[in-house]
Amino acid sequence: MQYDVLVVGGGPAGAAAAWHLASVGVRVLVLEARPVPRRKVCAGAVSQKAVRLLQSWGIDITPVVEGSMVEIAFFYRYRHPAVLRHRQPYALNVCRDKCDQYLLQQAEQAGAAVRTGCPVRSVRLEADRASVTCAQGDSYQAQVVVGADGANSAVRRAMGLGRLGQMGMGAEALLPYESLSGHAWDRLTGLQTTALIDYGIIPFGYGWIFPKRDHLNVGLGTFRHCRVPLKALLTRHCQERFPGLNLDLPLRGHPIPLYRPPIQGKRALLVGDAGGIVDPLVGEGIYYALRSGELAAQAVSAGLTTGRLEGFRDYERAVASEIIAEFRAASLLATLLYNATAVMHYHLVRKLRIVEQMLTVICGDLTYRQFCSWVLRNMPRELLRSAPAMTEQAFWSAGRIN
Ligand SMILES: Cc1cc2nc3c(=O)[nH]c(=O)nc-3n(C[C@H](O)[C@H](O)[C@H](O)COP(=O)(O)OP(=O)(O)OC[C@H]3O[C@@H](n4cnc5c(N)ncnc54)[C@H](O)[C@@H]3O)c2cc1C
Repeated sequence: MQYDVLVVGGGPAGAAAAWHLASVGVRVLVLEARPVPRRKVCAGAVSQKAVRLLQSWGIDITPVVEGSMVEIAFFYRYRHPAVLRHRQPYALNVCRDKCDQYLLQQAEQAGAAVRTGCPVRSVRLEADRASVTCAQGDSYQAQVVVGADGANSAVRRAMGLGRLGQMGMGAEALLPYESLSGHAWDRLTGLQTTALIDYGIIPFGYGWIFPKRDHLNVGLGTFRHCRVPLKALLTRHCQERFPGLNLDLPLRGHPIPLYRPPIQGKRALLVGDAGGIVDPLVGEGIYYALRSGELAAQAVSAGLTTGRLEGFRDYERAVASEIIAEFRAASLLATLLYNATAVMHYHLVRKLRIVEQMLTVICGDLTYRQFCSWVLRNMPRELLRSAPAMTEQAFWSAGRIN
């Protein structure tokens, strides 16, 4: 079988790119390294913005939804809660193994060929073609390769771009409800539809607890490249939240990449985590994987029509103007929030409208740029002056965790 496009990686970015390409009649093959369903370290919150994007394509993820989140509870070092019920669910809860398998099935139904358990070992980008070879030794040729192979992208390396630079890290533990007897989740928050967010327990990041159907996803993420004993902090986080819990459970970590262009070159482009297209404030990546997959598919279809495959600058420009401009505003908010978490939380508790606006961004009804200018207009001047002065170092050394 001849293919026009090879998609390396079968996560949401690869599935989205393949779905769009197959839907317009492009012959596309997805090569996924692992057997599917596969475990993916991820809190599994699919923002309303991502849900709507999928709906606009005619994809309904209801069959793999475990619940929805309507309330959010922010804590600073396990105290001083700021709790808000939003006017609509702001995110749906999924388990990534099932959700990613479902998205890949949608791509297959649209006409994409999918091969799982096929790790791509080498990628060659030549003047007249692109080819890849899998660990089993089988090779495939096509016009273009889409790198959707996550934070440690092999396609990125083959493009001569090296590894992604600065990376954050996230780690999670899955706590079955039966292991929590005496620590009932609903006693902690009162509700099964609540996301619990803990600040001040890890530098430049936060802890979360997201309820699934039969377990809690408990995790920690930091959005800066800094050395933190992530697993020790996660163990402590679980013990703070569920004192006495016997934590003989695997804790798994995964990098959170940060954007660094270029994300395109001769006969290849990068989508999702492979391009570092992850929100630097909250670490949301699923929406951006889906959307960059869609933008990449549009650029590849156009390139196949015109025969211009030596680069995909229009794709990079589209990502920069639509997504990276948003990330700049998100980064500014991250600098304020994570450099002066205590001060910011103090204001959060007193002004729940900040939380409401944030959830409106997650729903896709407000942009980060609009939210950022709202924050700058509405936050007390003295806070904006004091926040950057309170360095991460000062905040951290003042804390309980050293
Ligand atoms: C701890 C943590 C929590 C997170 N929580 C959330 C959240 O709640 N909500 C949210 O929106 N985002 C979250 N994210 C971010 C989100 O998980 C990622 O941004 C998202 O998975 C990116 O999708 P992707 O398709 O680009 O990459 P991935 O989902 O990583 O998929 C890449 C795929 O490529 C495959 N692959 C890798 N190498 C090869 C190869 N050589 N050959 C073939 N296949 C290969 C992998 O097996 C994998 O299936 C979280 C991230 C972390 C680390």
